Amino acid sequence: GKKSGGGAAGDAKGGLGLKNSKKDNFGEWYSELVVASELISYYDVSGCYILRPWAYAMWEVVQGWFDKRIKQLGVQNSYFPLFITEDVLNTEKDHVEGFAPEVAWVTKYGNSTMDKPIAIRPTSETVMYPYFAQWIRSHRDLPLRLNQWTNVVRWEFKYPTPFIRSREFLWQEGHTAFATQEEAEKEVLDILELYRGVYEDVLAVPVTKGRKSKKEQFAGAFYTTTVEAYIPETGRGIQGATSHCLGQNFSKMFSIQFEDDDRQKQHVWQNSWGLTTRSLGVMIMTHADDKGLVLPPRVAPKQVVIIPIPKANTPPEMVQAMMDKVSEFTAALEGAGVRVVTDTRANYTPGWKYNHWELRGLPLRMELGPKDMDNKAVVLARRDTGAKESVSWDDVVARVPALLETIQADMFAAAHARTADCTEVCHSFEQFMTALSNKHMALTPWADEEEIEEEVKKKSTTPDAMGAKTLCLPFEAPPLPEGTKCFYSGKPAKNWALWGRSY
Ligand code: AMP
Repeated sequence: GKKSGGGAAGDAKGGLGLKNSKKDNFGEWYSELVVASELISYYDVSGCYILRPWAYAMWEVVQGWFDKRIKQLGVQNSYFPLFITEDVLNTEKDHVEGFAPEVAWVTKYGNSTMDKPIAIRPTSETVMYPYFAQWIRSHRDLPLRLNQWTNVVRWEFKYPTPFIRSREFLWQEGHTAFATQEEAEKEVLDILELYRGVYEDVLAVPVTKGRKSKKEQFAGAFYTTTVEAYIPETGRGIQGATSHCLGQNFSKMFSIQFEDDDRQKQHVWQNSWGLTTRSLGVMIMTHADDKGLVLPPRVAPKQVVIIPIPKANTPPEMVQAMMDKVSEFTAALEGAGVRVVTDTRANYTPGWKYNHWELRGLPLRMELGPKDMDNKAVVLARRDTGAKESVSWDDVVARVPALLETIQADMFAAAHARTADCTEVCHSFEQFMTALSNKHMALTPWADEEEIEEEVKKKSTTPDAMGAKTLCLPFEAPPLPEGTKCFYSGKPAKNWALWGRSY
């Protein structure tokens, strides 16, 4: 495997290593990892987790990246309440039916029973749209483009997993209204492209863009677009983020109308779109290894740890010069926009420190020992590959940011290569089942029938594995020549569908 750190690492582990391995017992490895790396603490309400500072700092990076870009598109932030009355929640029938099983209710305050129970938002369409109806009068009030950064609660019955599926999670939810279908549909794809950017450009996680099947689309949507990620170790797909075109479904139910140029009343076209803390879980599952987290530099709250390594016999003047050099590099790198941490603690061995920062996933370690002082150089060690290089003092401030960009690109390329081999084109159900048992996704011609999707899910359920569903109808797919038949029903195929077992 990968080797990094000096000879000291082995004998100074101090219990930092993970007991489970990513390859052999993925689920246990993940649960152990998120706690050991100080991202998560388990909480005594099932399905709820504490996001510790190391995790929250990463969420702030994702927020910062996305927030800046939606503001450039003209979206404004706002905040709506957590609670929904039952009447309002029931306004859009498909929507409430989709969410009803997971809605949590407040039924009591103190010792008294509420006259009417109040729902906790699972998403805020019904919270916001009555006010859209009040605020939108004429075409001059459009487009209305709002976002909020909040928590939502969905009382999930599926098995919870930190970040990936929790009962309370953090997200952004965008809610927008337009005069025309064309503008709304353009935004759906603009946002989807930003979601691709969060995953691929920030988190170095490859995703597939596509449209959800009718069965899998958002409750109440006209259609749903998605970025889908994939975890090779478990062979499971995961919905990364979704950008929905709501069409006029909600505007009709909530009477959101505007007067057009001819003084005719029209219903607005609406979208909603959301990205959650799940994104961090997908990143962790994609990149982490048996030593701990491996953070892509762009999302790493700290990118470089500088560790001076004086020996027992290093003369005090040299120790002092080493410490001065550490301060100098810290200031210079911070000046160059690099997020730096220094570890000058005297009561820990270098080996312990290496393990500690490897567990936390820092992309780069900079070592400065007596030999490096003599050579006027430092050693840079990469977390992702373990590769080490010696860099002279004069080059450090230029080399570190460049190397961080290389690491970012290499991590994406490596993840992309792992995923690219995991899609099998299938023209029969037999091939389909083989792909699934290889822990792969299946790309199939499909006649786009909801009943068939239901049937495939049942038929692909085995004693030890869940059934498969469509992850998406990918926007980029091979040509579909006339006469191509659905892999399952044999009817004329309408499009390609990407299937998989999923989170
Ligand atoms: P939705 O509003 O249902 O479209 O959800 C938006 C996004 O939230 C989905 O695309 C998922 O990536 C994510 N998501 C859904 N459920 C959960 C959950 N229980 N925990 C974390 N993220 C979730």
